[in-house]
Amino acid sequence: MNEYDSDKMADVLRAREGMEQTDNPEDADVILFNTCSVREKAQEKVFSDLGRVRPLKQAKPGLLIGVAGCVASQEGEAIVKRAPYVDMVFGPQTLHRLPQLMAARRASGRPQVDISFPEIEKFDHLPQARTTAGSAFVSIMEGCSKYCSYCVVPYTRGEEISRPFADVLRDVQILTAQGVGEITLLGQNVNAYCGVMEDGETVDLAFLLQALAALDDVQRLRFTTSHPREMTQRLIDVYVSTPKLASQLHLPVQSGSDRILAAMKRGYTTLEYKSIIRKLRAARPDIVLSSDFIVGFPGETERDFEATLKLVEDIEFDASFSFLYSSRPGTPAAEMQDEVQHEVKAERLQRLQDLLAAQAQELPKKLIGTTQRVLVESVSRKDAQEVAGRMDNNRIVNFVGSPGMVGRFVDVKITGVWAYTLRGELVLNQD
Ligand code: SAH
Ligand code: SF4
Repeated sequence: MNEYDSDKMADVLRAREGMEQTDNPEDADVILFNTCSVREKAQEKVFSDLGRVRPLKQAKPGLLIGVAGCVASQEGEAIVKRAPYVDMVFGPQTLHRLPQLMAARRASGRPQVDISFPEIEKFDHLPQARTTAGSAFVSIMEGCSKYCSYCVVPYTRGEEISRPFADVLRDVQILTAQGVGEITLLGQNVNAYCGVMEDGETVDLAFLLQALAALDDVQRLRFTTSHPREMTQRLIDVYVSTPKLASQLHLPVQSGSDRILAAMKRGYTTLEYKSIIRKLRAARPDIVLSSDFIVGFPGETERDFEATLKLVEDIEFDASFSFLYSSRPGTPAAEMQDEVQHEVKAERLQRLQDLLAAQAQELPKKLIGTTQRVLVESVSRKDAQEVAGRMDNNRIVNFVGSPGMVGRFVDVKITGVWAYTLRGELVLNQD
């Protein structure tokens, strides 16, 4: 999500200010930090990063420094108080106003803060995306109305709001006209999508996926992130009807303990989660599943944690994410009694990560000998003869190829696995 937002900031500055991106801070006229506040560590990092670019401003007085994203949204004016050399502070919903904020900063000489939630006007003010890549993200909804007890997202990104169906369709067509074959529909809870049509009716994610799959130029579709509560039968059925939908789903479960799931306000039980997985596997037997886990939620007992391990063992996930619970100010969980020792939590996280890592090694073994359709994403940094491609199941395979293949779909035979990386050979005689 943040990467998508960063790209949009670059698009805005390119289209409206004629700026180019640079990797070298010394060359920059504007330095933006796009921040995340989902866990405390990410939040603290921004202030140390800001301290590091401060000397650049002394050397180049016209340099503008901006803080964007959810830390900006949550802290607002407090950022300017703590770091007065910051020029612009803006949230995920106001990034399209960056040129106005820069102009106001230059004209007034004062830092500008705009962290409002102006509904979904953002998308009407963003320039058209330009890309040379084979795959692209398209945002279909923003925000979250789930209010899980530990999570700061509904407060920093606002409530769920969907983009109209026609707007999404247009964005996808603009991208496919530039040669993009794979589209990932993006949102905090994409399966809550509820987009209005021109006649005022609304459509869901299942409809949207099928409509996009009907476009000849769309070769592969993904969507992320989904919430188990809205994993409807209609959506599961799309895995049967629509081969262009990739055999992969990231479906965060967070915990395998019903007691903890209730305290997290996730709105489902482990049984319900497992039942969704069963239906998904019936619909698409080779589907690869990944998840998010929070370890050490307030009051988590050894028994609760073991239930999480059990769920992981039962389901078998591929490459998942797991985090130590981080108390976020303003969320209900921050008020909960939390006696679990940090060492206990850290040790649990390690156990879970060991199990997840062991499971993530299983899939590559099963793939050896199979032929996979891959979208070539990049030339290897280490070896110019090698390229990396993404399979339908979201895994990356490296093989001998040429730079001209980047952005194209090719068939690759999987020949081996080395640590987490797969190796393959290009299948010749492809049409
Ligand atoms: N909307 C998505 C996830 C968005 S946040 C969903 O609900 O599935 C991404 C992940 O960050 C979450 O899935 C959760 O595992 C983690 N996360 C969110 N708040 C957290 C917190 N306070 N402490 C630790 N991890 C957290
Ligand atoms: Fe946060 Fe829950 Fe919304 Fe995901 S569904 S963004 S975890 S509040």
